[in-house]
Amino acid sequence: MQVLSVTPEIFPLIKTGGLADVTGALPIALASKGVAMRTLIPGYPVVMDAFKKKKAVYQYPLLQGGKASVHAVKIGELELFVLDAPHLFDRQGGPYGTASGSDWPDNWRRFAALSQVGGDIAGGAISGYQPDIVHAHDWQSAMTLAYMRYGNAIGVPSLITVHNLAFQGQFGSGIFGELGLPGVAMQLDGVEYYGGVGFLKAGLQAAWAITTVSPTYAQEIRSPEFGMGLDGLINMRAVDLYGIVNGIDVDIWNPATDRHLVANYSAETLEARALNRKAVEERFSLEPDDSPIVCVVSRLTWQKGMDILAAVVDGVVQRGARLAVLGSGDAGLEGSLLAAAARHRGRVGVVIGYDEALSHIMQGGCDAIVIPSRFEPCGLTQLYGLRYGCVPVVARTGGLADTIIDANEAALSAGVATGFQFAPNNGGALLHAIRRLVEAHARPAAWASLQRQGMKADVSWDKSAEKYVELYRLLLSKRAA
Ligand code: ADP
Repeated sequence: MQVLSVTPEIFPLIKTGGLADVTGALPIALASKGVAMRTLIPGYPVVMDAFKKKKAVYQYPLLQGGKASVHAVKIGELELFVLDAPHLFDRQGGPYGTASGSDWPDNWRRFAALSQVGGDIAGGAISGYQPDIVHAHDWQSAMTLAYMRYGNAIGVPSLITVHNLAFQGQFGSGIFGELGLPGVAMQLDGVEYYGGVGFLKAGLQAAWAITTVSPTYAQEIRSPEFGMGLDGLINMRAVDLYGIVNGIDVDIWNPATDRHLVANYSAETLEARALNRKAVEERFSLEPDDSPIVCVVSRLTWQKGMDILAAVVDGVVQRGARLAVLGSGDAGLEGSLLAAAARHRGRVGVVIGYDEALSHIMQGGCDAIVIPSRFEPCGLTQLYGLRYGCVPVVARTGGLADTIIDANEAALSAGVATGFQFAPNNGGALLHAIRRLVEAHARPAAWASLQRQGMKADVSWDKSAEKYVELYRLLLSKRAA
């Protein structure tokens, strides 16, 4: 089975969030299950620099304002089609904007181009390659499915995975004329969205099936509270909606071999975590003692509930926990967390920035990781936490609710608890969870068994990849029908 994945990000080449981890890991997990996944990505500078031999398998004399070509390359285990379009992607900064964080004004053009190429490949543009299925991700590649529907790939089964409904790719109607779509596409059941053009909306409309990255989030987005204006459409498509929880790369995230760690360990040698813990204490200027270190590795945003945490830092300290925060995001939130660190020297440490290596050390050395998200499609850091014996403390929402088993009396006595959940998501409930954590941490044997239980959880891609394969098969049977 040949699947074409179309995505704006793929680990390890280009990553701003969990989407990249998924698109980077899924092809590898699928390979052993008889599915060959090729991935179409934009030729950002870091991507173009990653391969030497350039051989175009398709050329565009004109694609959204300039010359472009598609290159078939293999980087590591990943089979890629790279869209080389310098006028769109050869820019310094991030994949979506300048280094200082403002979006590129022509993002609609950049990702319409990526999607158009996805649609062309689906329609057989590249000689010798015909995907059986096309799998798009988020708004940046969602239009692929519209180009397929209004072009010559309407018979090719398609799937869109929503990693975060908050990002929708909404643009004014003025761009429609430049998309190269027929006039009929600008309709309610096409790409039209509140009078403008909605990229994600168009994909949700055209896809044969829709997935999100956890079963609970799949249900939540059917409600006005989580649906972000798209709940009506999602409800209309409910029979084609699936929730498949993400896995993680258990080779990269393996405490027994992780090179970022000061000391490697397993469920049998948890005491070795002490050396990583010491490294965290030093990096975050925390007083060394026996109290639990609760960490945050996150974008510092409203979605992630960082304002809820920032408002109760004093309470966290009063309850006897130390706090280590690694993240970047909203300037206001960065400021209030830094101010909390200044108020509680030795008890609270904050590092502003993105630091992959430090994030590993924190999972390997902190006692717990707190994730107070207002909504969380899947979440990866709680899965890393499970694997590393860094006990997750999570808001009961989305993928957090699906992957963490709360340490209540029943779960503890059955030996299945893996972390702490709290609801509703507010400061009081969060502090209550912190108190439960501090109490549990004071009983070393019980705490170690909570850590070991989490470390036993299957957080690999294996089961989830199997679910994608089942869905691909279902879509193929619909094509045949
Ligand atoms: P989202 O994609 O919504 O940001 P996820 O939990 O799905 O949230 O994925 C976030 C990913 O980014 C994880 O791999 C996490 O470890 C990583 N991450 C987030 N912030 C940082 C940071 N400041 N430094 C290093 N890694 C980070």
